[in-house]
Amino acid sequence: MAASTTEPILEVTGLVKHYPLTRGVLFRKQIGAVKAVDGVDFRLGRGETLGVVGESGCGKSTLARLLCSLERPTAGSIRFKGEEITRLSGRALKAVRRNIQMVFQDPYTSLNPRMTVGDIVGEPYEIHPEAAPKGDRRRRVRELLDVVGLDPEYINRYPHQFSGGQRQRIGIARGLALRPEIIVADEPVSALDVSVQAQVINLLDRLQTEFELSYVFIAHDLSIVRHISDRVGVMYLGRIVETGTETEIYDHPTHPYTQALLSAVPVPDPDAREHRARIILSGDVPSPTDIPSGCRFRTRCWKARERCALEVPALAVPEEFRHTTGPAAHDSACHFAEDVSDACSAPGRGAPLEEQGNGPG
Ligand code: ADP
Ligand code: MG
Repeated sequence: MAASTTEPILEVTGLVKHYPLTRGVLFRKQIGAVKAVDGVDFRLGRGETLGVVGESGCGKSTLARLLCSLERPTAGSIRFKGEEITRLSGRALKAVRRNIQMVFQDPYTSLNPRMTVGDIVGEPYEIHPEAAPKGDRRRRVRELLDVVGLDPEYINRYPHQFSGGQRQRIGIARGLALRPEIIVADEPVSALDVSVQAQVINLLDRLQTEFELSYVFIAHDLSIVRHISDRVGVMYLGRIVETGTETEIYDHPTHPYTQALLSAVPVPDPDAREHRARIILSGDVPSPTDIPSGCRFRTRCWKARERCALEVPALAVPEEFRHTTGPAAHDSACHFAEDVSDACSAPGRGAPLEEQGNGPG
């Protein structure tokens, strides 16, 4: 979890994924586009965790698939260790995919129910046979099960014989099989009981140190990513609208959307609760086929003025921070960004997360 100031392992600039919206069966006519990801910029330092947070439908899973080269972007750039990876094919694409692995949201649907745990965790070796000699795969799978806190003797069992938390451990073991450098975890605990969420997050935290991983950790709730993130990017309608260190985002949010999200996070301390204004946003999230002009958040923003409809606010990265991911890089895509930290408070950061219940989930 140490923030890095060296060259980023991943650098994303102007990333766009638009899905064509068509009408008609025979003569498919494009009548618009779903702007799922619409200009995302961020940097991920080596060994760092970037938390990406936003409401359902804001483009998080699409971003995750783009980062893992499972889909090609409509425009923009993804640099992995300095190399542009969005236009790779064949062997080079395969090599990059091996290095950036995904952990999926729902361990109930992402694991094939007819495959044994051993086959699921070892499946990446079928796709990348060069990663492990055939005779050694079984041993590696047992080792991986052990690493994620599962009994290696479970290797011949099927997914339905495990709890939700255990299934996500299986998914994580599979994500580790190829020894990637980056893991993109797409809401890895959202489908789990609150009581096992902390266990899985603490596991990911431990694995990060053990395997020198860099994480993009996606969640729809700010409270979940706080513990594990070094930096946080807040996403709204296909774009990151605020980014900064974990402390800056939680203690000094400057974008109205981040302030609204934080005001909805439950605060255990009744005193703090009393001092905090709950911000209720007006209206619904606009459709990604019809993104408002200027600032995309303006239709729900209490600060919106004329300028907001006319001018797109830049997520400005000051020149002096261009090649660092240091603590000073706090950016907000808002014409009227301000720190109103007294009005917002967030749950504290404690290490490790308190786990509920006994035994691995
Ligand atoms: P999130 O993970 O934040 O909930 P998604 O990335 O799944 O958001 O979706 C963002 C938007 O893009 C949604 O409106 C969704 O319906 C749309 N979308 C996602 N995948 C596709 C696709 N393959 N074709 C068309 N629209 C898509
Ligand atoms: Mg999603």
